[in-house]
Amino acid sequence: MNESYENTPAGCTHDCSSCGASCPSRQGPESLQEPMNESSNVKNVIAVVSGKGGVGKSLVTALLASQMKRAGKTVGVLDADITGPSVPKLFGLEGQRVMGTDAGLLPLRSAGGVEVMSINLLLEDPTEPVVWRGPVLAGVVKQFWHEVVWGDVDYLFVDMPPGTGDVPLTVFQSLPIKGIVIVTSPQELVGMIVEKAVNMAKLMGVPVLGIVENMSYFRCPDCGKRHAIFGESHLEELAAKHGIPALARIPIDPAFARASDAGAIDTVEAEGMGALTEQLLARLS
Ligand code: ADP
Repeated sequence: MNESYENTPAGCTHDCSSCGASCPSRQGPESLQEPMNESSNVKNVIAVVSGKGGVGKSLVTALLASQMKRAGKTVGVLDADITGPSVPKLFGLEGQRVMGTDAGLLPLRSAGGVEVMSINLLLEDPTEPVVWRGPVLAGVVKQFWHEVVWGDVDYLFVDMPPGTGDVPLTVFQSLPIKGIVIVTSPQELVGMIVEKAVNMAKLMGVPVLGIVENMSYFRCPDCGKRHAIFGESHLEELAAKHGIPALARIPIDPAFARASDAGAIDTVEAEGMGALTEQLLARLS
């Protein structure tokens, strides 16, 4: 008799999916999680999500990563926005290519010390459009986890594609996500978009670390007064409705756009980012 079938209840069919009995040979539901690269030790994976494009999700991911690096942590950014990758440009890595070794692909390090992996660092021509079907895109994200030598990383931020398609689903299922940060704009907050992101996280069993409202206001450089360019903030109200933390309100700042274009995002000190990373650190510890 097979040893693993010893002590099983009478009438056992060895089909654990149709039986609730607790016995030594019981198999748990199959995990879809991908193994991490053998040379990596990533401690916390945080996904940064938004309902639609253009709200500043990549910018906030880059600001978060840079701020966390300044706080003395080792940090990486996995650019899972495969069809609209903007992370290399933000960190001044555009036009560079990653190297492959026997152990796997080596991410590129920004001037500020953030490790970056993106499809644009693998393509011969970064202007080439990525016209791949969902499963292929999802496969790339898995490779960015198990074929990239991330090394020792305290916080790996995943810049997710907007919405709830194939790639976000793959990230949630394949990577050990500790929590998500939702990025919105004041316009977006009133809609159902936050609710969708919260519900997806619930469905996937991943905690929501909080909401960041980007482009929340513009501070007049002359008088210091705040102006709500895209309408009044609904951040607190929405956070309370869903019982999740309101992490930060990030202003519209032409310096962000300039630093993004110059590939110098890790030199930017944004209002409220220090407090935001402290809150994240507290929630993840
Ligand atoms: P997403 O990742 O959500 O598609 P991006 O991060 O690429 O959005 O931002 C879209 C554009 O808006 C970029 O050109 C970026 O520089 C600009 N942007 C985003 N947030 C701000 C901000 N707070 N102030 C000024 N420009 C911003």
